Amino acid sequence: MKQEIYDIAVIGGGPVGMFTAFYASLRDTKIVLIESLATLGGQVTALYPEKNILDVAGFYGIKGSAFITELNKQLHVFPVEIKTETTVTNIAKSDGLFTITTHSGETLQAKTVIITTGKGAFEPRKIQIEGVDKLVGQGVHYFVNDVHDFENRHIAIAGGGDSAVDMATMLNSVAASTTIIHRRDTFRAMEQSVNQLMMSTVVRETPKKIVSVTKQTNGQLEITLAEVKNDDITNRIIVDDLIVNYGFISENKTIEGWDIQPKVAGLAFDVNQEMQTSIPGIYAVGDASHYVGKSDLIAIGFGEAPNAVNAAIRRFDPDRRGPGHSSSMVIKDGKLL
Ligand SMILES: Cc1cc2nc3c(=O)[nH]c(=O)nc-3n(C[C@H](O)[C@H](O)[C@H](O)COP(=O)(O)OP(=O)(O)OC[C@H]3O[C@@H](n4cnc5c(N)ncnc54)[C@H](O)[C@@H]3O)c2cc1C
Repeated sequence: MKQEIYDIAVIGGGPVGMFTAFYASLRDTKIVLIESLATLGGQVTALYPEKNILDVAGFYGIKGSAFITELNKQLHVFPVEIKTETTVTNIAKSDGLFTITTHSGETLQAKTVIITTGKGAFEPRKIQIEGVDKLVGQGVHYFVNDVHDFENRHIAIAGGGDSAVDMATMLNSVAASTTIIHRRDTFRAMEQSVNQLMMSTVVRETPKKIVSVTKQTNGQLEITLAEVKNDDITNRIIVDDLIVNYGFISENKTIEGWDIQPKVAGLAFDVNQEMQTSIPGIYAVGDASHYVGKSDLIAIGFGEAPNAVNAAIRRFDPDRRGPGHSSSMVIKDGKLL
C-alpha cells in the first residue's frame, strides 16, 4: 500500500502545537499532530491546569484546563489526524520529503514539519532544604492539580514569580489562610497580578528565606523563616501545606539522534522571519523557537503559528493563493456549516 504523505507534520501537542494544527487544517492541508503524552495541552495540562490564564486574547481569566478544552474544540472543527502517546525519535530527509520515525518504529512522511516541542522535558526546580524531599506528597507540593485540595487549609507558597503570585491569590479564595514567602521585597510578576496580591489578604513574608521545614505530630508543617540579610532574625509559621513554586528546569534532548540537526539556540531552535529553522522545510514555533526579542508566551506562539503554516504552504504549493480570512465560513456547535 502506498504510504500517505502529509503536507505538514506538527510535532508536539502543547497549546501552540494544537493551534498550529488547527490553523493548518483551516488552510485545508493534510495534517498530522504528534504528541508524546496521552493528553494534549503541553505545559498547561501538565503543570498548571488550575491556574488562571490572563494574557491570551479573548480570555480574561480562564483556568488552564478550560483553555485547553476550548483549543481542543477548535482543533476538531476540520480534519486533523492526532497521534497521542507517540514520541518522535528521528527526522530524516530524502527525495524532498521528511521521514518521521516514532518510538514504536512507525514512520510517517511529510512535505514539511513544524516543531512545537516546547523546551523539552521539564521538571520543577526543587527546594534545597534537608529533609523536605521526604515530605513531598505529605504536605509539601510542587503542583496544584485541584484547587479544592486546599479548601479551608492553611497554606504557604514559596516563590515570587508570576506563577507563585497568581497561585497565592487564586488559592486564597478557598484556603483558610495563605502566606507567600519570597527572598525579595518585590515580586517578578505581571503588574496587575502583583496589585491584586497586594490588595488581598495573603500574608507576605518578605524578604525571607526558608531555613527548615518539619512535620509536627498533628501533621502540620512548621516552617522556620529567616531574614535574607540577617540569619539571626527568624520567625516560625505553622501551615497544613507548603507549595513550592521556584519555576521549572528543562533539558532539551528532543533532537538527540535525529538525522537532521536544525541549529539550536539554548533550548530552542533558531528561526528566521518565516519561522523556518536552519533546515529548509522545517519550522519551529512556540517555546521551541528562538529569535531576538522572543518571549515564551502562548500569545506569542499563537502569532507565530500562522506564519509558519503559511510559509510551509508557500513551499510545497507556491501557486496557492492566500492566506485569506475565514470570515465567510459559518461554524455552529463546533462544526462547519
Ligand atoms: C507554571 C507556568 C505558568 C505559565 N503561565 C503562563 C500564562 O499565564 N500565560 C502564558 O502565555 N504562558 C504561560 N506559561 C508559558 C506557557 O505555558 C508556554 O509558553 C506554552 O506552554 C508553550 O506552548 P508550546 O505548545 O510551545 O510548548 P509546550 O506547552 O511545552 O508543549 C510541548 C509539547 O510537545 C511534546 N513533545 C516534546 N517532545 C516531543 C517529541 N519528541 N515527540 C512528540 N511530542 C513531543 C510535549 O510532550 C508537550 O506536550 C506558563 C508556564 C509555566 C511553566
